[in-house]
Amino acid sequence: MTDPASDLFDLHGTGALVTGAARGIGRAAALCLAERGASLTLFDRDEEELQRSESMINERGGTCRIVVGDVTSSADIERLSSVTNGDHVSVVVNCAGVVRRTDIRDMTLVDLDHLWNVNLRGTVAVTQQFLPRMIEQGRGKVINMGSLGSVLGLQNRTAYATTKGAVALYTKSLALEVAQYGINVNAIGPGYIETDMTSDWLHGDSERTASLLERIPANRFGTTNDLEGLFLFLASRASDYVTGQLIMIDGGWTTN
Ligand code: NDP
Repeated sequence: MTDPASDLFDLHGTGALVTGAARGIGRAAALCLAERGASLTLFDRDEEELQRSESMINERGGTCRIVVGDVTSSADIERLSSVTNGDHVSVVVNCAGVVRRTDIRDMTLVDLDHLWNVNLRGTVAVTQQFLPRMIEQGRGKVINMGSLGSVLGLQNRTAYATTKGAVALYTKSLALEVAQYGINVNAIGPGYIETDMTSDWLHGDSERTASLLERIPANRFGTTNDLEGLFLFLASRASDYVTGQLIMIDGGWTTN
């Protein structure tokens, strides 16, 4: 007997691009999509770690190529586009992101420009590059990375939250425009997930660790494994009628 769930989440024959795939959430997204049969293109500026992600996928029998580049560079995005020209990329996962944690008095406009360029402009630039293909194919899945900062103010991360609020509304507006072409656009809003981006913040000060955990109903930080099911859902046919949503995975943080 065939397993209906396995069919619903099957990604064989699907080309998927993941930015920020050299580590953390992007790497986890790439691995879980590859395990379900997607052919992956991994994009990041860290070549060495990108190669490690590639090896991890190959070891699991997946198909993958890597492209080294920066989401703030138009030339790099054009190169990414031409390298993947023959692929049927219909899943774009925008994971490349950066954070700055600083008192508002020390936040500079240079910081704001940098975060904006990576988190918002990079997401838009990569998506714009692949939208025409998705429209032509009559199908597509865009998955953006929001944050708690997409729906709440974040102390000491004003610039970061500003960019993530923008990602949430970009997701909704784009979803409205491209639903008619069979393209779904959604965002994931993780709470505190254990990655290189957060390890100092989550574990560098025991009082802060305790107060963060106290605020999380699930009483633990998330892991990249906690996000895999949602990546799979949003990349697959299972989510064909879901669009314009920001789905929080935060152990309950935003429920109280
Ligand atoms: P990591 O820092 O672990 O990984 C991010 C990856 O993106 C790194 O490999 C980084 O490379 C790459 N990257 C950064 N800037 C660029 C760029 N300009 N061009 C190409 N690649 C780039 O972060 P996470 O995996 O934790 O985060 C992934 C996404 O999830 C981000 O958008 C983040 O904001 C979001 N998020 C994460 C949360 C968490 O708790 N971890 C919570 C909420 C949202 P390099 O190392 O060279 O900078």
